[in-house]
Amino acid sequence: MAKKSETIFSNLNSEKNGTTAGEVVERLRHMIQNGDLSPGDRLPPERDLAKLLGVSRPTLRAGIRSLSTVGILQSRQGAGTFVVEKGESPTLDGSPLQMLSALHGFTSDEMFEARLALEMSIAGLAAERATSEQMTLMAEEIAGMYASLTNPEQYLVHDMRFHQTIAAASNNRILTSLMNMIATILFDSRSKTVTRAKDLKQSAEQHHNIYRAMREHDIEGARRAMHDHLVETQKAQRLEELEDAAALKGMTNQ
Ligand SMILES: [Zn+2]
Repeated sequence: MAKKSETIFSNLNSEKNGTTAGEVVERLRHMIQNGDLSPGDRLPPERDLAKLLGVSRPTLRAGIRSLSTVGILQSRQGAGTFVVEKGESPTLDGSPLQMLSALHGFTSDEMFEARLALEMSIAGLAAERATSEQMTLMAEEIAGMYASLTNPEQYLVHDMRFHQTIAAASNNRILTSLMNMIATILFDSRSKTVTRAKDLKQSAEQHHNIYRAMREHDIEGARRAMHDHLVETQKAQRLEELEDAAALKGMTNQ
């Protein structure tokens, strides 16, 4: 890798000043598209790479961070930074969408509608395509939900994993990535209020309905069950937020 990287990176003519993180992103992206960097390759150590590209380490780090955010690079603790493997479902975190959201003032209703549209499609595809291993994983997450009805934070983890398993079962990595991006934001905001949840048993039953439709390869049924579950989830979250706000107001009034 060391030899290969020197030849690749030395072509970059990057001695000029003022190289920005955006340019680092462009160059690394270009190299990945050209096949100079392949899926699974480890990037050279930060110090060497910064030198080879002729950029400062903070600039390099910012560029790497951007590409990690969009699921192209992956930093592994202690092991370095890698180009993600092919076939791994890309994990987009919510930050690009969050940034757009801050800029354009997306409403939570819009976010919810987008999730609804995506997850109903995903549920329909998964009802057709889920493997028996994936069905088993879904069943395990539902069991986890029933086992954590009195522990909302733990419940939410199983809830999220259940949805991610369905997304994987849809076998469409684009829909999966988009769903994960939106779901991460919604789960983040839910985790702030979920301790006020009252209806976790009902929620677990809704997941069970989705699972049953999947098991019967009932495409319409799976779409409908997902729709009903997400609508109920949004209602529950709104109530939790109202209670949270009321509690906060109570505290400040004292
Ligand atoms: Zn759910």
